Amino acid sequence: MPTCPRCHQSVDAQAIACPHCRTSLKAYGHPGIPLHRAGSEEYLCQSCIYDQDDTCNYPQRPYAKECMLYTNQTPLAAQRSKASLDVSLTLWIRRNAGWLILLAVALIIILRTFS
Ligand code: SF4
Ligand SMILES: [Zn+2]
Repeated sequence: MPTCPRCHQSVDAQAIACPHCRTSLKAYGHPGIPLHRAGSEEYLCQSCIYDQDDTCNYPQRPYAKECMLYTNQTPLAAQRSKASLDVSLTLWIRRNAGWLILLAVALIIILRTFS
């Protein structure tokens, strides 16, 4: 369940305003248009994917405190990080293939010796 950005109480995902502190949670009072809010010390653009890829032309960029289109870049960064890890692991396996085969043979010999 989402939480209110101001009072951090749980709120219904469709709520137009927080029932605890009355903060607006949707733009134009429409339940289908989320209104994202920054914390007191930060701007939304700092972590928005549209600032990262330089496709945003909103006038409030890069100091947006409220925005309907804000999209957190973390999922994309996490995907890139995972892809980078996959590539690194593949390269490491290719570089050390000889040692890995030798290790596998040694393990087979050890297992056969003690079985
Ligand atoms: S979409 Fe909103 S939060 Fe994202 S960069 Fe533009 S103004 Fe900032
Ligand atoms: Zn609230």
